Amino acid sequence: MWWYGPRILRTALPSVIHHSLFTIKMSSLETKRTDLIVVGGGALGAFHAYFALSRGLSVLLLEKDVRPSEATVRNFGQIIPSGMSEDEWFAYGRVSQETYRAIQAECDISVRSNGSTYLASTDSEMRLLEEKHARYRELDYESTLLTRAECRRRVPALRPDYCVGGLLFPQEVTAEPDRLIHRLLDYLVERWGLDYRPLTPVKACTANGSSCEVVDAFGRVYRSAKVIVCSGRDFKFLYPDLFYGSDLQVCKLQMLATYPMPGVHLPGSILTGLSIRRYYAFRSCPSYARLDPDEVSPGLRQWGIHLLFKQALDGSIILGDSHEYADANRAEDLDFGVDDHVNELILGEAKRILDLPDWRIQRAWNGYYAQSKSREIFERTIDDRIHIVTGIGGKGMTTACGFAKQNIEKLLGVALGG
Ligand SMILES: Cc1cc2nc3c(=O)[nH]c(=O)nc-3n(C[C@H](O)[C@H](O)[C@H](O)COP(=O)(O)OP(=O)(O)OC[C@H]3O[C@@H](n4cnc5c(N)ncnc54)[C@H](O)[C@@H]3O)c2cc1C
Repeated sequence: MWWYGPRILRTALPSVIHHSLFTIKMSSLETKRTDLIVVGGGALGAFHAYFALSRGLSVLLLEKDVRPSEATVRNFGQIIPSGMSEDEWFAYGRVSQETYRAIQAECDISVRSNGSTYLASTDSEMRLLEEKHARYRELDYESTLLTRAECRRRVPALRPDYCVGGLLFPQEVTAEPDRLIHRLLDYLVERWGLDYRPLTPVKACTANGSSCEVVDAFGRVYRSAKVIVCSGRDFKFLYPDLFYGSDLQVCKLQMLATYPMPGVHLPGSILTGLSIRRYYAFRSCPSYARLDPDEVSPGLRQWGIHLLFKQALDGSIILGDSHEYADANRAEDLDFGVDDHVNELILGEAKRILDLPDWRIQRAWNGYYAQSKSREIFERTIDDRIHIVTGIGGKGMTTACGFAKQNIEKLLGVALGG
């Protein structure tokens, strides 16, 4: 017998959750067989669902939490193909950018065309921006070099003594991570007929002959022709042996948000000298090897800190981040707190870059993503029908969509045009 919750709680919940929590009868077998079950409602899972749906497949998406609340909602929302290495990930970033725009044209998923600005703090960093600008011209990817004065016109809060020049990507977009995935899932339900079940922790997937069987923690059983598992950094429920035996790691990032500052205008994504040093995009530049690592303080290096900024819709400024790593089977070593020392390092560097009227911090939080030591995305196939995809690392908001498009094409054998 399924539990029908109190009316007051039922009316307060969104309809999809309501459906899952209160109105699904606890039959042990969900009889309808779908073409595809996707496990995990983060960026990777949602975009795999989108491309399968857009080719006419029936899709059931199972998410363990009441709403997705992992990396996909804890990030900056910077969609920056310009920061990707010059391989398929740059191409995935470009496809993602166009797809975000196309979906935004149909439904407000919080995507804004407000550009990305890289700020160089030294002549050597500026040289990398110039080299990358030349390279992007060859790749037909728009960018504009900015003088120091032009950087200050674009970012009035920029401290004059920080910046020697910049590089602007006017076509790049941002999103609001606390809205994007929820609106995207609503859109997939309403526009594409996605069967979305939050509060459905999957505990087992098996393939039998021509079919897959998925069992959730309530004992409900679902059947489909294929399963794609996009479970992020969660390595305990499904396939722990596989994950623990791999080179997957969990990365912890600390993030901060100021109080709203309506008088300050920070356009799009702001990336700084430390990002130029960190991002793979710049490693192919001829002058990369000439960067002097000692120009970065040991504290910033120890915690993998680089400075990114983005203004949220309420006017607060999101800044971060740091990077700490633990093996997949030791993730709890990272899990516990927000380290004030790390926050102070982040804030110290931030104050060198921007001159804000109010540096009080309204919120601090940790985000976690999975990433393999080789930096390859983690992909495994079990019995030809169950495909595991995780470990997209720190670039999933930029690339998960483009990756998912080609992966659906590869796994399900449907050519995706457009
Ligand atoms: C602080 C931070 C800042 C970042 N900033 C950026 C940025 O600006 N730009 C950028 O491109 N990328 C950024 N990233 C990276 C990006 O957020 C991630 O790459 C991306 O969100 C990963 O998506 P995912 O779907 O693989 O994982 P997740 O978002 O972790 O989603 C996995 C989902 O699977 C669900 N799940 C797990 N196990 C089960 C199960 N057994 N049953 C059912 N459901 C399950 C989880 O609840 C979760 O909702 C950032 C990441 C962090 C942490």
